[in-house]
Amino acid sequence: MLEADRCARCLNPVCIAVCPLQLDVSGMCDAVANADFATAYRRIRETNALVGVTARCCPQMQGLCEDACVWHLDGDPVSIGMIQRFVSDWEQVESRQENPPCLPDTGKRISIVGAGPAGLAAGELLRRYGHSATIYEELPFAGGTAWYGIPDYHLPKGVLQYEIDRIEEQGVEIRTGTKIGKDLSLSDLLERSDAVLITTGAKDVSKFDVPGADSEGIYDAYQFLEDVYVLGVDHYIRNPLYNLGRNILVIGGGDSALDAARTALRLSKGKVTLVYRRTESEMPADPFIIEEAKEEGIEFKFLASPRCYVSQNGKVNSTTMIQMKLGAPDKTGRRSPEPVEGGDFSMTCDSVLIAIGRGPNSFIQKKYGMKTGKNNAIEIDGQHRTSIPGVFAAGDVTTGETLVVKAMSDGREAAQRVHEYVMKVPIERHVSLYDTYFGKRSTIEYREKMLGFTEEQLCPPV
Ligand SMILES: Cc1cc2nc3c(=O)[nH]c(=O)nc-3n(C[C@H](O)[C@H](O)[C@H](O)COP(=O)(O)OP(=O)(O)OC[C@H]3O[C@@H](n4cnc5c(N)ncnc54)[C@H](O)[C@@H]3O)c2cc1C
Repeated sequence: MLEADRCARCLNPVCIAVCPLQLDVSGMCDAVANADFATAYRRIRETNALVGVTARCCPQMQGLCEDACVWHLDGDPVSIGMIQRFVSDWEQVESRQENPPCLPDTGKRISIVGAGPAGLAAGELLRRYGHSATIYEELPFAGGTAWYGIPDYHLPKGVLQYEIDRIEEQGVEIRTGTKIGKDLSLSDLLERSDAVLITTGAKDVSKFDVPGADSEGIYDAYQFLEDVYVLGVDHYIRNPLYNLGRNILVIGGGDSALDAARTALRLSKGKVTLVYRRTESEMPADPFIIEEAKEEGIEFKFLASPRCYVSQNGKVNSTTMIQMKLGAPDKTGRRSPEPVEGGDFSMTCDSVLIAIGRGPNSFIQKKYGMKTGKNNAIEIDGQHRTSIPGVFAAGDVTTGETLVVKAMSDGREAAQRVHEYVMKVPIERHVSLYDTYFGKRSTIEYREKMLGFTEEQLCPPV
């Protein structure tokens, strides 16, 4: 409560403006400071159906709420993520609150493909508009990458499951174990619904052609994380699939590489070294996660990249590394790594985990010949429409890997466009979710848009 009371309640809260979900940070802090946890929960649950998940997973200091907090200028932003986590824990453990209300049934049926953060957020908003929302998920569990990719020590499965259960209680149907394109076709979904929304995420691992990569002991780190976490760590420990040995290399500099390194350390109690081709300051990973990894004993080898894997009897036992140096900045402004002539060196290893990025899951778009963009991402227009009439798309399948909160925000925007499509709301009457939550509903511009409609037909129900 003392920490929440540090919030300056800015008249123009930048923390809310930068949050992809427009989480009502100042409203939450104000209510917590006054010990009114029910109001705090209601305020943040309004735009975010996964409050406990995002409290734990958001890199708040990486261009998000805490980074934007005015007190950050003084060096000590309000701990927004921890306050949000407190409020969600209070609701989950101590005082269950009502779900946000749903409007009366419209008779419109929406099918969503993929029960990750984007599909769940979209289903929740569509349901609140009174539509029937059915999510088809190929895995036996909902949650997407948040279920099978984000480690349990970072996001306990119970927290995610609780919030998925609450979304189901609102009336969103989740049919697990159903792969669209195999168990059911896109035409099946179009026949049984008024619109289809595809949120199949990022899954295609970036290619990294290094000689010797077919040796035993060279693994895809994303598959490794999925195998460890999909059925729970306890299950994995009873049924281990990987023989990592005691000397493990992890290639990559993002959050997933750190997740793989920290998971490998927990499972092997060996020596885990993260190898990255630039230096620590260019690492895309969250600096907090880097610090945690260091505290746990992960070692780092910067300015190195694999040239080839060396094996004995088919099993990797060392990696020849190219020594790198930093050159001129690339398009993103980060300095590019360049090889140092004659600088090769060897690192012994029993296994190597590779985590250098994932692109959009290309299965559905390839199968149904949808128009695609960069890295096979489903191409969408400003209304989230794909090249197939009645089919919309959102989340990481349209962008490549982002963040839970960004995928959710994209899912909600797409849900708003799907709602307008099935209710035949003309484009000039479309409202922005962003503006809606900034209280612009009462402005003249909004009132004019609403002529001939009720507020409930155009704006997310509150
Ligand atoms: C290892 C790892 C760690 C991460 N850590 C974080 C973190 O700490 N914080 C953070 O904010 N983000 C993190 N991310 C990123 C985040 O998880 C994703 O950006 C987010 O989950 C994307 O949501 P989505 O709904 O678009 O896709 P996904 O979460 O990938 O969900 C897509 C769903 O669609 C299903 N599906 C696919 N094809 C079909 C089909 N044909 N039929 C039916 N179902 C299908 C999939 O099984 C999956 O459940 C991490 C990612 C990884 C890989």
